Amino acid sequence: MIVTAALALPMDGRAPIPDAAVLIADGRIVAVGPRAEILARPDAAGRECLDYGAAIVLPGLVNAHIHLEYTHLGPLPAPQRFFPWLQGLVRWSAERGPEDWLASARDGAAGCRRAGVTCLGEIVTRGQGLAAMAEAGLRGVAYLEFIGGGADLAARLAQFDARTAEAAATVRAAGNPGLRLGLSPHTPYSVSAAGIRAVAGRAHRAGAPLAMHLAESAGEVALLLDGTGEIADFLRTIEPDGQPREPYRAGGHGLGPVAYVATQGLFAPGHPTLLIHAVHLGPEDIARIVAAGAAVALCPRSNTLLECGDAPVAALLDAGVPLGVGTDSLGSNRDLDLFAELRALAATVRQQRAERGEPLDEGALARRLLGLVTAEGARALALDDQVGTLTPGKLADLAILALDPAGGDPYRLILDRASAADLRATIIGGRVAYDAATPATPTPAGARG
Ligand SMILES: [Zn+2]
Repeated sequence: MIVTAALALPMDGRAPIPDAAVLIADGRIVAVGPRAEILARPDAAGRECLDYGAAIVLPGLVNAHIHLEYTHLGPLPAPQRFFPWLQGLVRWSAERGPEDWLASARDGAAGCRRAGVTCLGEIVTRGQGLAAMAEAGLRGVAYLEFIGGGADLAARLAQFDARTAEAAATVRAAGNPGLRLGLSPHTPYSVSAAGIRAVAGRAHRAGAPLAMHLAESAGEVALLLDGTGEIADFLRTIEPDGQPREPYRAGGHGLGPVAYVATQGLFAPGHPTLLIHAVHLGPEDIARIVAAGAAVALCPRSNTLLECGDAPVAALLDAGVPLGVGTDSLGSNRDLDLFAELRALAATVRQQRAERGEPLDEGALARRLLGLVTAEGARALALDDQVGTLTPGKLADLAILALDPAGGDPYRLILDRASAADLRATIIGGRVAYDAATPATPTPAGARG
């Protein structure tokens, strides 16, 4: 297959390519370059050519944090406070069965394809999120979630190990080189300290990427710092034997979330670890994240809707922490539009730069932010060997935006104007996985389509 359009953004350090073509064979990118040059190659002869006209070809987008299983919980119509929202999610979940979860996850996977998303950092609470990724051919890391681990830690871990083995078999059977299994201790308030250590240890030994929701709400910070706040109040009420439920400790641990999970062995040198949300961070936390080599999944619109605040995006960008962008589940967002997330991040960066009296280069910001949902997002998931850029050898995953790039800076055009509604087509492994209109007209290679 050959895909042609008015512009391609390789996102691998190369400049935008006007009048571009992407040559694809056996599900992978063979070459990307000017149309005339690509069509003249001997290996382009006779291949089907899809011409998208006045459009921009991007690498398939990376949504670094999502829960497909919770798609039917959303969209969230209006802001809610974080902890009451979470308790509502638990009540909603109690009324659902396996068929509901699968239908929800499948709708989420379809929504991703419509939004140009081909790669996910998916948190799998039950299993259907992985099943939906596998059947849709989506790339990404399916992080199996672990919750709990008080007095019943051994039983929970035995269950978790069985689920892990089952999920590993699903991933193997999918035969998808861009799909990997990861592990995720849910949060520092829903997993005991011993639970965090046990899950992190399993991931380190198996070489499985780790992800953890961290430093999302003020209640989480207060719980760990000094044992106060709404999450601490809640944990005190639910322990049936009257014993304080871990990690609640009268007086707290005296540590912020990043320092706390570091003491519980979450990080290991060279091991891919993704911290989700990372809203409540001080400079010393950012230094710890850098030292640990961890990445961060920013979820700006979810954080706003759940009244959690803004992450220190400018400082994280400056520190060189690999950053991805997530919508989180549709249950805490309005839609799955990563371009809207980028605009929210841009607004936060402008505000934070202004507060610090720092200059802002809008062109550089737009380039960097588009990287967060492509190359850098793939790096945050440790999948950058397979996806994230239009580079020969990588999987042929493309997002095609129906935006006319004529004149101006294409990165700024996308940051300012693009939305998921502009998606013309989504291609996964060289196959059209979503087409907004009638299929592009195939023409023989060599003819101008
Ligand atoms: Zn989440």
